[in-house]
Amino acid sequence: MAILIDGNKIAAEIKEEVRQEVAEIKAKYGVTVGLAVVLVGEDPASKIYVANKAKSCEVAGIYSEALRLPAETTQDQLLAEIDRLNKRDEIHGILVQSPPPPHINEKVIFERIDPEKDVDGFHPMNVGRLVINEEGFVPATPSGIIETLARLKIPIEGKEAVVIGRSDIVGKPIALLLLHRHATVTICHSRTQNLPEVARRADILVAAVGKPAMVKGDWVKPGAVVIDVGINRITKDKAWDALYSDPKRAEDLNTKGTTLVGDVDEYTVGPVAGYLTPVPGGVGPLTIAMLLKNAVFAAKRRLRI
Ligand code: NAD
Repeated sequence: MAILIDGNKIAAEIKEEVRQEVAEIKAKYGVTVGLAVVLVGEDPASKIYVANKAKSCEVAGIYSEALRLPAETTQDQLLAEIDRLNKRDEIHGILVQSPPPPHINEKVIFERIDPEKDVDGFHPMNVGRLVINEEGFVPATPSGIIETLARLKIPIEGKEAVVIGRSDIVGKPIALLLLHRHATVTICHSRTQNLPEVARRADILVAAVGKPAMVKGDWVKPGAVVIDVGINRITKDKAWDALYSDPKRAEDLNTKGTTLVGDVDEYTVGPVAGYLTPVPGGVGPLTIAMLLKNAVFAAKRRLRI
């Protein structure tokens, strides 16, 4: 049976390290690390993410500021707010919660954030730095995956890595991070032929697709490290029998009417893989922890330490 990777435990370790570093920066330089989170509109999931980020900042001793703007905010108004945040010395990191309302072009917004405050790592300058393996801001979810592999001392060099999904926020950056650590990397996507066969080559298999339980046990090489990035909410009417075999999921489905599953079918992959990140509690918790780490990194770059 695969060893389940405890993302909550790793995230707690990272957050504690961040807390200590934030306190050290304050003691030595008199500077409080500051993060601004901009939210446009009333998307309920985004509101929860923003609240969680603020809470995590507070625990870590990071000053956080949530700028909540109405859904009708124009792109130019949002750009003006970003310009203001770019100029403020006490704000080291800025992020705009995704997705903004449809009338706002996210790419234009990402490009306006000062690349030295771009804690999400979405500015083309930081994307470029990642491509050429130069120090810069790396998106939190993929860097959390690398941090996990490093902390568990899972070797990457010389390994076959297969990434399913080619998004700018997960698939491409994790592929680059694995490549820079000398894995042989294959990126798969919706047009890939013989996906199960390609996946079976992987010593490290990353699934970042957004399709519930897509990766099955017979897609996985025995002993492989399987990283499940997917977060899919399954409602009771779409739930399948295996989900009810898990008491926690059965309870979720029976009480809340939904449960969260990954892109990996844990019931068939679990018996084959060497390691597996569960959903929830695997990759998810690392994202906020790495975001805080990026805020500290931004402050350190500004202070040239
Ligand atoms: P996306 O929709 O931007 O990209 C999905 C990718 O999957 C695309 O590149 C597409 O080509 C590929 N794909 C789609 N169908 C496929 C198929 N049948 N076979 C092979 N490839 C296919 O998604 P994203 O933003 O990269 O997110 C992926 C998943 O990860 C989602 O479930 C998302 O909720 C989750 N996610 C989790 C975190 C976290 O913190 N844990 C962070 C970001 C995203």
